[in-house]
Amino acid sequence: MSIVCTVGKQKYDKDIIFNSNDILLYSVTMKIVFLGVGEAFDENLPNNSHLIITEKTKLLLDCGYDIPKQLWKYNPDQNLLDAVYISHQHADHYFGLTALFMRMWEEERKKPITIICQNGFKDNFERVMEFAYPGFSKNFKFKIKFIEVDKNTRIKFNDLELSFADTVHSGNNLAIRTKNKEKSISYSGDGMFNENTEKLYRNCDLLIHEAYLYDKKIIGHACIMDLVKMAEGNNIKYLALTHLQRDFRRNDLEEIKDKVKNNELKVIIPEPLDEYNL
Ligand SMILES: [Zn+2]
Ligand SMILES: [Zn+2]
Repeated sequence: MSIVCTVGKQKYDKDIIFNSNDILLYSVTMKIVFLGVGEAFDENLPNNSHLIITEKTKLLLDCGYDIPKQLWKYNPDQNLLDAVYISHQHADHYFGLTALFMRMWEEERKKPITIICQNGFKDNFERVMEFAYPGFSKNFKFKIKFIEVDKNTRIKFNDLELSFADTVHSGNNLAIRTKNKEKSISYSGDGMFNENTEKLYRNCDLLIHEAYLYDKKIIGHACIMDLVKMAEGNNIKYLALTHLQRDFRRNDLEEIKDKVKNNELKVIIPEPLDEYNL
């Protein structure tokens, strides 16, 4: 696998494969844009949320309150997204949906969009929209399709196979694995892995996982030391660490980078709007 880092919208490498119309040109089959990499209350970093781009699909993974602006900075096209996945009902993972959908309405989007979510989310989404901007959602010109999933669901969405597993978190969270013909990317949402999630992550090319601290265990979150061990044991090629506790990331980032240098497993600590190609 060649993995190429580009920063922001600048594209440095000839292997970069998307032209202005996002048509797949060369050999890269999956692209990830780390829109936000922060925890819930970090004053410097937008919430944990990422965009997966394949030949046929643009899938947003979570949409916290900081994320609409990140997405619009990356690409302001109101028709960009095909689907949004919401891992769990914590505001740093879904409160951005109100602004995201209102701008789609304002810019007269007509293309349908899919929300992939857990059972019961649809009602809450409608309540949140109505609370935020009363009376507007009934005027949307685009259809919102809901696909409700649980930890045993496997679905095909365009060119992606999607599967899910529970994690240990203070809210009911489902990690997701996305796979096209050649590559796979998993994303934890929030929470410590268990044997189900380990199975979900096994052999994936890139795992984007939340971590809170280096070796101190916090209930409901993973720590970096456990994650590196788990990733090595499950043949994961690249591990991206996100959602790091704000003081820890601010004060100890260089030290963390030194500690996680590892030849087999490649550990990435992305900055907002970093892009990687698989
Ligand atoms: Zn969170
Ligand atoms: Zn959470």
